[in-house]
Amino acid sequence: MRLSRYFMPILKENPKEAEIVSHRLMLRTGMIRQQSQGIYSWLPLGKRVLDKVNAIIREEQNRSGAIELLMPTLQSAELWQESGRYDAYGKEMLRIKDRQDRPMLYGPTNEEMITDIFRSSVKSYKDLPLNLYHIQLKFRDEIRPRFGTMRSREFMMKDAYSFDLTLEGAVHSYNKMFAAYLRTFNRLGLRAIPMRADTGPIGGNLSHEFIILADTGESEVFCHKDFVNFDIPGEDTNFDDVAGLKSIFDKWTSVYAATSEMHDEAAFNAIPEGDRLSARGIEVGHIFYFGTKYSEPMGAKVQGPDGKEHAVHMGSYGIGPTRLVPAIIEASHDENGIIWPESVAPFDVVVINMKAGDQACDEACETVYAALSKAGRDVLYDDRDERAGTKFATADLIGVPMQIIVGPRSIASGEVEVKDRKTGARETMTVEAAINRLAG
Ligand code: ATP
Ligand code: MG
Repeated sequence: MRLSRYFMPILKENPKEAEIVSHRLMLRTGMIRQQSQGIYSWLPLGKRVLDKVNAIIREEQNRSGAIELLMPTLQSAELWQESGRYDAYGKEMLRIKDRQDRPMLYGPTNEEMITDIFRSSVKSYKDLPLNLYHIQLKFRDEIRPRFGTMRSREFMMKDAYSFDLTLEGAVHSYNKMFAAYLRTFNRLGLRAIPMRADTGPIGGNLSHEFIILADTGESEVFCHKDFVNFDIPGEDTNFDDVAGLKSIFDKWTSVYAATSEMHDEAAFNAIPEGDRLSARGIEVGHIFYFGTKYSEPMGAKVQGPDGKEHAVHMGSYGIGPTRLVPAIIEASHDENGIIWPESVAPFDVVVINMKAGDQACDEACETVYAALSKAGRDVLYDDRDERAGTKFATADLIGVPMQIIVGPRSIASGEVEVKDRKTGARETMTVEAAINRLAG
């Protein structure tokens, strides 16, 4: 991508309305734009990051055996009357009427709809287990939307729903998501800690929130320091191995971790003082087992091996991609801007032409840009007619992991500089060596 032809509306000044660093940086780099309170557009730079986050979420959901579909944002109120949640949900639900005066709503979550899809076609235990997910916009009319896309009214969620004949089956489905979440957040460059959670209005009795530690987090959390060293399940994890997944779950729930709602002061104080971690955190994922809460009233039943009808055991599993993007920034930035983990960076490399219009600089930049693009890297070429200082600042601000700096002096001897955004380390090398280094 040539920056001169791209759309990246960078702000010169720090936006005053932003209270936390991720919100400030997302606005400054032109990743997002607020359209009305708690409702955002994702501009091209932000969209690239969001797509990469979603791609990782999708890969790990698929790896665990979940199957993707897509449900609509607008739902009919009837379904929610069946489960009893239409009245229970309160003001967070945006209620709408269509032209025939039928009550509709903008979905805050999809348990009812997925249960309806399930009951319409699955009739036998032989079709279980089943886990269906989608990545879709949700709307919750939050009383206090704030911090940009961290807590917005319209936001994206990956929500998965599992169906099993028995409690034991449902627990295995839960453990699959538990392991998939550990892998997902790790690949996003984050260490998320699963914490026993209150089941809230969705209801149920087994639930964990996945929390990232950050000073700006809205939740107060308490846990054992050991979490920092626990192993993440590998790529070769066998998601059909019931005992194997249970041991991952057991390990990751073996030491104390709780949000303030579930906090047990005595249990926490039993941890040696030096091992206690009391901090703030951001909830990036939440998993629930809730049994037959929806399948019972909505008649989602299958025939079991005993020939009888059984309401299925269900769970639901959410991740917030539009919250994850700012959460990643909260965890990874410095005074100059964002430092993207490679896995979600909007571009892999930025080529900085210090003197656009200079023949040698232009030629070297074009060579590098073409070669790295051909090698499959996402390359941003800063070919703008701007001062070198402005370009350096932009490159640091938008946090692309590697920079190739092409200036008239060094290119005269055939050399460029390669800079690592995270460490700040710089190295001078030939154009060819730079291409080889960054080709992947
Ligand atoms: P919170 O406690 O932060 O309000 P929640 O517990 O109501 O969130 P869940 O129903 O558990 O949210 O939703 C699953 C995931 O969706 C959350 O873990 C979070 O990542 C994301 N999410 C929920 N609400 C929002 C929001 N208003 N803005 C952005 N992401 C959100
Ligand atoms: Mg939650």
